Amino acid sequence: MAKEKDASMVCSFCLKSKDEVEILVSGAKAHICENCVSSAVYIIERETGLSIGSSEEIEEESGNSIKKGKAKKISFTLKPIDIFNKLNEYVIGQKDAKRVLSVAIYNHYKRLNTPTKDDVEIEKSNIVMVGETGTGKTLMAKTIAKLLNVPFAIVDATVFTEAGYVGEDVESILSRLLQAADYDVDAAERGIVFIDEIDKLGRKGGNPSITRDVSGEGVQQAMLKLLEGSEVLVPPQGGRKHPDQKMVKVNTQNILFICGGAFEGIDKVIARRVQTSAIGFKSNSDLDNLKQDELIQYVNTLDLRSFGLIPELLGRLPVVTYLQPLDAEALRLILTEPKNAIIKQYKRIFEQEGVRLYFDDDALDYIVQKAIEFKLGGRGLRSICEVIMIDAMFETPSKKDTDYFVVDLPYVKEKIEKGKLGYLKVA
Ligand code: ADP
Repeated sequence: MAKEKDASMVCSFCLKSKDEVEILVSGAKAHICENCVSSAVYIIERETGLSIGSSEEIEEESGNSIKKGKAKKISFTLKPIDIFNKLNEYVIGQKDAKRVLSVAIYNHYKRLNTPTKDDVEIEKSNIVMVGETGTGKTLMAKTIAKLLNVPFAIVDATVFTEAGYVGEDVESILSRLLQAADYDVDAAERGIVFIDEIDKLGRKGGNPSITRDVSGEGVQQAMLKLLEGSEVLVPPQGGRKHPDQKMVKVNTQNILFICGGAFEGIDKVIARRVQTSAIGFKSNSDLDNLKQDELIQYVNTLDLRSFGLIPELLGRLPVVTYLQPLDAEALRLILTEPKNAIIKQYKRIFEQEGVRLYFDDDALDYIVQKAIEFKLGGRGLRSICEVIMIDAMFETPSKKDTDYFVVDLPYVKEKIEKGKLGYLKVA
């Protein structure tokens, strides 16, 4: 005769007996086994967003402990307008890109926290930002990552090659993210990757300025796997995969990819497309009046195809936005307005030496003028300021009787001349 299970010694949820489980926790009138506790934790986390399960270390790999825990739901309370306002604190101008990015980020995190319902799954909103060098693409991605407090990695698309060629495997993009996440796989799986110079992956022949060989397409194919969300074996140390290296499995489903590229000459591509369709324009003369800088606002995926990016890859990058070239007014604001503006940083450095630092307005205007000349966008400002400030930063800490320092126009001119800034100039 089959032995009846002693009701006082079975899990009240799965009805397994004490002998069949490791642990049976007793309550007033019920018991629960370790398996049902795990399931309950999972359900509570999914439903409430609270993280109550702990992450555990599962592997030791070349001195780096690989941590893997249960997927946590991240608390995300910012609305798109809040994200936009936060971006405003650090990034000057680029209103359209900020709006697009705010919505994409918001939807991305909504998606992470929303279980699929009625087969409706919110698709991942990987992003492409098109804009000249130094217009704030990296800054924008970095600011977002800081805001969300998630691991963030910047990689340059040009260092990757198809497997078998000299260069880095595409998977090492995830190695960087893993490193940024301090080898916490769970955290890395919710991180953000910024892939710069995506426009340089184009196939030969798509555009006369592109000199990359056909392996660029192989890299795009490999990248596709990462972007579409799959389980990827990643060498924790990066570089090339080799047989002895232990791999870490990273699921890319919830990693947000933001790509950036200058897409040089895209204004002509847009002009050609817009001219043939002329949708939304009152007349052809409206089009003729559009300045080169204004065309960028009409950029779309089609335009990126002519840079040799394969349709499958572009299909995985559904959000396309643009950054305007920075004019004198924007460059001037970049110097002084953002939360960590360059001039504020110098002031802080001097303040630590007990010295108040002043910049005359005409000195700042001159710096802007030079940045425009060198065609390096916001990036040029920092290089120019470094050349101007290097002597003062070298000498001031040793000076005892200085309590203020004024950077005026003659000082700036003298330092720029002496600093041989010509090498910064873009041909
Ligand atoms: P890229 O578009 O080439 O990625 P970055 O974002 O790296 O350019 O910009 C380089 C630097 O120039 C930034 O670190 C920042 O100091 C400055 N910068 C560029 N664009 C902006 C902007 N729109 N607002 C504020 N700072 C900017």
